[in-house]
Amino acid sequence: MKILVINAGSSSLKYQLFDMEGEKVLAKGLCERIGIDGHLKHTPLVEGKNVFNEDISLPTHAEAIAAVIDKLTSPEYGVVSSMSEIHAVGHRVVHGGEFFSASVIITDEVMKAIEACNPLAPLHNPANITGINACKKVMGDKIPQVAVFDTAFHQTMPGKAFTYAIPKEFYEKDKIRRYGFHGTSHRYVATRAAAMLGRPIEELKLISCHMGNGSSICAIDGGKSVDTSMGFTPLVGLPMGTRCGDLDSGIIQYLMNKYGYTIDEMMNILNKKSGVLGVSGISSDFRDLDNAAAQGNKDAQLALDLFHYDVAKVIGSYAVAMNGVDAIIFTAGIGENSKETRAAICEYFTFFGCKINPEANSKRGEEIEISTSDSRIKLLVIPTNEELVIARDTQELVK
Ligand code: ADP
Repeated sequence: MKILVINAGSSSLKYQLFDMEGEKVLAKGLCERIGIDGHLKHTPLVEGKNVFNEDISLPTHAEAIAAVIDKLTSPEYGVVSSMSEIHAVGHRVVHGGEFFSASVIITDEVMKAIEACNPLAPLHNPANITGINACKKVMGDKIPQVAVFDTAFHQTMPGKAFTYAIPKEFYEKDKIRRYGFHGTSHRYVATRAAAMLGRPIEELKLISCHMGNGSSICAIDGGKSVDTSMGFTPLVGLPMGTRCGDLDSGIIQYLMNKYGYTIDEMMNILNKKSGVLGVSGISSDFRDLDNAAAQGNKDAQLALDLFHYDVAKVIGSYAVAMNGVDAIIFTAGIGENSKETRAAICEYFTFFGCKINPEANSKRGEEIEISTSDSRIKLLVIPTNEELVIARDTQELVK
């Protein structure tokens, strides 16, 4: 079975075509500047086919999907002979609100529920919907479409974890609550962790640290999300590349009054100019911060220290929330690549008998246990693979 995985943004569209026999990626690519001018980079991963990397006109997402299908089926760049070889399409959808606790086949009713979640993710959900509509338009009704939600995995959180201490009508009427994000990634690494540890997931207490441009931590008890650090929006929890993470909400009023910012200007500062970029004044990229800190830049060092400290505090609080922890998982750009970050975070847990193995910790790009054999808590690095989860869920639902 061949499955196309789509991640549509407002002006971009990423895709991967999977052959589920052996779970191989046959081709992947990225459409950019949709609605502006247009560029497509298409990379076939089978021998004898060429990479396509050119500016092409992409006025809408439908033209982008048509261009992707054209490349996937072309003799020079393609990996399938016709569109009918593609059995189904799996879409990443950011917000499923309280409607979806698992992936679903997209029907008219499902589309209505996804649309009803637009106010909860105004930057993402409308773009995801545009991607789904573009696929329907270009590929027709016969090819099933599946939605896989970033929020769904966290729908198992108990009320004490998802409720904010504000008047209850804001939850009852307006659905203001913690939703959490990166659910597909947390779910994938938790499943892999159980396989690596050779134990049923139902027995395990896991803490998954997804640390990339956006970062979140998830407490996973018995395979279910019981708490996570992102909230109603992806702005909170850890300080991130450019997002502030947890912040005293009184600061917003103080700064808006003092500088006359509009709410949009204020939110732009908190989303785009804060986090480790804001604290360091240098970069949102942890590689730049590592280099600057190594050359003695104190602001870069403070940004890194603050990040490590906040990650450690959340891990500590989740160990308490679950009354134990068997393994801590590191994933995504920083979690998979930065041995310095992992080592600095784990320093905080030596008191729990948590010991890192420096040699294992220096490896990159593979699933690996980085704790010593006598460590009381296992430490795992697991490269995430959200696209594979989307492809698997799609296969499961359509077969
Ligand atoms: P996204 O959230 O956009 O999917 P990624 O998971 O790709 O992000 O993570 C991107 C981040 O990973 C970058 O900000 C970069 O700081 C970090 N990163 C990538 N490689 C390294 C590395 N070798 N050392 C430290 N950080 C790294």
